[in-house]
Amino acid sequence: MAANITFDLDLCNSCKTCIDACFIDVIRWDDKKEQPFAAYPEDCVLCLGCEEACPAQCIEVVPATVSAAPQ
Ligand code: SF4
Ligand code: SF4
Repeated sequence: MAANITFDLDLCNSCKTCIDACFIDVIRWDDKKEQPFAAYPEDCVLCLGCEEACPAQCIEVVPATVSAAPQ
């Protein structure tokens, strides 16, 4: 499975809750920017645990669009 995981980083308060929320470590921490990023979106199982856990509601997870088969 794969997902498009986006963070509204203007709203993010750098609490790291999303890092703990993702049980398969899709989300990692950028130490330089002090913000999360989707390191392994291809491993996401769309459980939406990170979305629900984020106190700032700045995470959006949607299924990755499957590219069309060659014609
Ligand atoms: S939806 Fe679930 S598996 Fe995907 S990044 Fe969020 S917590 Fe991890
Ligand atoms: S849980 Fe939300 S506010 Fe906290 S670090 Fe993650 S994206 Fe930012």
